Amino acid sequence: MAIQSSLGTETIAASSTNETIDVQKDLAMLDASKLRINLADRLKPVPTPENVVFGKHMSDHMLVATYDPSSGWSEPEIKPYGPLLLDPTSSCFHYSTSLFEGMKAYSGPDGESRLFRPELNMARMVRSAERVALPPFDPNELLKLIKRLVQIESRWIPQESGYSLYIRPTIIGTRPYIGMGASDYATLFVVCCPAGLYFRRGAKMLSLMTLGAHVRAWPGGTGGHKISANYAATFLPQQVAAERGYDQVLWLLGDRITEAGAMNFFVVRKRSDGDLDLITAPLDGTVLPGVTRDSVLSLAGAHGHGITLPNLPPSLKIHVQECTFTTSDLSQWAEDGTLIEAFSAGTAVVIVSIGRIGLEGETDIILPKQESGMGPVAEAMCGMITAIQEGREQWSGWSVLCD
Ligand SMILES: *Cc1c(COP(=O)(O)O)cnc(C)c1O
Repeated sequence: MAIQSSLGTETIAASSTNETIDVQKDLAMLDASKLRINLADRLKPVPTPENVVFGKHMSDHMLVATYDPSSGWSEPEIKPYGPLLLDPTSSCFHYSTSLFEGMKAYSGPDGESRLFRPELNMARMVRSAERVALPPFDPNELLKLIKRLVQIESRWIPQESGYSLYIRPTIIGTRPYIGMGASDYATLFVVCCPAGLYFRRGAKMLSLMTLGAHVRAWPGGTGGHKISANYAATFLPQQVAAERGYDQVLWLLGDRITEAGAMNFFVVRKRSDGDLDLITAPLDGTVLPGVTRDSVLSLAGAHGHGITLPNLPPSLKIHVQECTFTTSDLSQWAEDGTLIEAFSAGTAVVIVSIGRIGLEGETDIILPKQESGMGPVAEAMCGMITAIQEGREQWSGWSVLCD
């Protein structure tokens, strides 16, 4: 597995400057072989699947490593879950020097724990750390540590299909100095909790609302990175949408559609030749490069060539269109009857179908109603991705064992 790391260049840069050479060459790298494990004396009760509330029941243990500019990364430790003790001047509290990832562990039919394309999360996390000027780390070492944590917490992975263990790797800037500047101290931690269906599905499809006055991301900004600073400002618009009776915000940049809530957004359009177009915004820096997004696009391209998505005719061609599209396009496509589905994708939800899109809360675009609560393409994608995640279907080495 090859993961891009900025560590290599860091070492070269350090050894080519004379003054700092002695300090920098002793900086320890994040090293999974140095892991210390301190297990909890008393284990918590694991909630039964029907009692799983997302994010509420944290597992018994967490992984922690700290970075100090004089010594580098500490020995990583898996220890009982609990509070962190932080100086009130810590950089993350004032300047949002923090970032996170969201990934899941699944239990396969063989009882083995597995991760889904975790190298993509690790590579994205390296880029996030770089973007907010936090210390670099070796993504391969972090992945080894996460696999070890998942093994230790395997009793927390619900066995039922559709359930998983949500994993939240995080890095916060802990420089204890209120002066403004990059944080050269950091704490990396990974915590886990069981996850079921994020939005209670069934008959209900999600509703979205555009709020042109609030922009999530902009050209030259940080929208393409999973850094904490991107999220604080989204909660007020989210509350506005909720007050107007919509589930999530459909984020715009001018009249261009970018994402929905903290999920990537797709529409399905019927073409005159009978094929389908699967349309999503391009990765131009204003859209988060989702692992689920990439998986949906790959599966669409592979349908009928080596893989058949559930309940779709193998002869059906799905053309992937990563292109700019606007609210006027959506209205036009709804009017001419070619807009047949819209859905959102992300690790937490996997896939969720959209039933209604309120343009500034004034006119509603209504998507075709679906008995199952999901459009055929959304349902096919959800079925295939879940099957690969749970190890029931093999595809391109996307499911990775935690051994
Ligand atoms: C995390 C996230 C996504 C989804 O990414 P996945 O890797 O599929 O979980 C999409 N949009 C935003 C803004 C996100 O934060």
